[in-house]
Amino acid sequence: MPSFALVKKTLAAIFLSATALCAQAGTIYVQADRMVDVVSGTMVEKPALVITDGRVTALGAQGAVPVPEGAERLDLTGMTILPGLIDMHVHLTGRHDMHGYEGLAESTGDETINGVIHAEKTLMAGFTAARNLGAAGFSDVALRRALAANRLKGPRLYVSGPSIGATGGHCDNNLLPPEYDAHSQGAADGPWGVVRKVREVKKYGADLIKICATGGVLSKGTQVGAQQLAQEEMDAIVAEAKRLGLKVAAHAHGTAGIKAAIRAGVDTVEHASFIDDEGIRLAKERGTYLSMDIYNTEYILSAGEAAGFLPESLAKERVVGKTQRESFTRAVKAGVKMVFGSDAGVYPHGDNGKQFARMVQFGMTPMQAIQAATVNAADALGASADLGTLTVGRYGDLIAVKGNPLADISLLEKVDVVVKGGEVVKGRP
Ligand SMILES: [Zn+2]
Repeated sequence: MPSFALVKKTLAAIFLSATALCAQAGTIYVQADRMVDVVSGTMVEKPALVITDGRVTALGAQGAVPVPEGAERLDLTGMTILPGLIDMHVHLTGRHDMHGYEGLAESTGDETINGVIHAEKTLMAGFTAARNLGAAGFSDVALRRALAANRLKGPRLYVSGPSIGATGGHCDNNLLPPEYDAHSQGAADGPWGVVRKVREVKKYGADLIKICATGGVLSKGTQVGAQQLAQEEMDAIVAEAKRLGLKVAAHAHGTAGIKAAIRAGVDTVEHASFIDDEGIRLAKERGTYLSMDIYNTEYILSAGEAAGFLPESLAKERVVGKTQRESFTRAVKAGVKMVFGSDAGVYPHGDNGKQFARMVQFGMTPMQAIQAATVNAADALGASADLGTLTVGRYGDLIAVKGNPLADISLLEKVDVVVKGGEVVKGRP
């Protein structure tokens, strides 16, 4: 039987920690030297903002924004704040060091655990939201649920469930001989076959649809440039997805497949490696976003053999990586809408930000590269009311770096402070 004094002491301790928790989740006042305003495309000096119950409730110049009574203070003097970053193409349930036949040994359970580990790495790299494109067994839906319930640390997730693609195509499992009868969950054929998959993916909790319009680098026996879904199949997928209120992301490297996907009305084209001038014109006309993973070629070509990539994948990447960077430069010059998509999982999670410097090297201004990962990404997700900018009413998701990222974009490879929903998850000074 505990003594009365001990009970009193314990109750007091519980009360104290409860009030500490309330203050933390309640209101936070943030000030910094600079803020990247991704809407106007300018740098703002001496900003201050208040986040209350997870959302931005005040924003302005220091001195003009009153510090609410009892608010926690986060003083980021010497630093630049930006909206939380958004990676539009990640594979959280996949490991960078288990490709090709190595990956066959991974169960859905293993993949779910991978997701838990990689979600935290992604958040710590400054990505407070991410779009996961393709996962077996709806492990990505489980991950999103646990993150949304705050049971895990990680970005706000938008997930596709299994990728939908043709039998024998890039998103099927082509590694085993016929007696194993191995198929990926999303393999389907014909307009009604793929429509059924769209309905199934929605039924089990996906937020969006991922399709494989063409061959790919990492799949066995696919020609990277070849179209794999017929126009009729993509038209049927997009029409059904729209009826269900879902966006569609299309993996497409090859010229014809890219254009067929844009004509079908997909929201984002992933990779877009061999896009031609007509494809660029179509993307501009239709407002289709391109999501071009122009960093990961460096990882595949340097560490690929040890990571288990198939020899044919390495051969394909030697051609694709170089062409994709040239295509990126042409698309940026033409003014096509772009989002930041890294394909992390092909390369190590947490290194997502390494792509920023390549986006600048191959034609973007630093501001454009940051906009691709913030305001544009939120628009492509259909989540502009919540994400992508530091604006009153949006989530209180922000990052901070020492120095000026518009002068040195590589600062985004090592983000110092991460705040998600008003909670400081990294780098409290
Ligand atoms: Zn991918």
